[in-house]
Amino acid sequence: MNIILFGPPGAGKGTQAKILEKEYGFKQLSTGDMLRAEVSGQTELGKKMKVIMDQGNLVPDEIVIEMIRTYVESDDCEKGAIFDGFPRTVAQADALSSMLKECGKAIECVIELQVEDDALVGRIEKRAEEEGRDDDTVDAFKVRLGLYRDYSADVLPYYKAKGLHSLLDGDQSVEDVSKALRLLVS
Ligand code: AMP
Repeated sequence: MNIILFGPPGAGKGTQAKILEKEYGFKQLSTGDMLRAEVSGQTELGKKMKVIMDQGNLVPDEIVIEMIRTYVESDDCEKGAIFDGFPRTVAQADALSSMLKECGKAIECVIELQVEDDALVGRIEKRAEEEGRDDDTVDAFKVRLGLYRDYSADVLPYYKAKGLHSLLDGDQSVEDVSKALRLLVS
């Protein structure tokens, strides 16, 4: 099954994607993780993208589209994929749809994790302590949340129009969110 996990920074997309990957064998595809690997590998691309990411801004569409293409076409996604943090623009959503179509696949489910802003701030502060991500600062978080509000207003209607969208209460415990997710993907 090919699933998109959609939600604001700190909604728990990565945590839930890892659980689904383990239980169902769908491959987690996180563009944020791919970009952070470029940054920590100090590649030319990583050096350029770090500045954008640290500010909380979006990197150019063509970069994330090409990153995701390599994986979509690989055998790792035979059982399906969980798109985590991608697509974030309609151009990305269109590109994803075309590349899946070329492999005879399609997005089957778009799950929006909804979490109150106050709860997100607490989660981001916790992640900053635990993981030390350079973009988990108050300023970058504000930018990322503001951008999320903007791009979700474009991307979610795209999938709602296709009848693929489900809303899930992400304010629950990790276990309860997983339970609700299992019902949607089984
Ligand atoms: P994430 O781990 O999904 O929160 O992503 C961390 C950062 O990577 C974002 O704030 C963006 O700078 C960049 N990024 C990740 N995915 C995308 C995407 N699909 N489109 C544009 N930028 C992205």
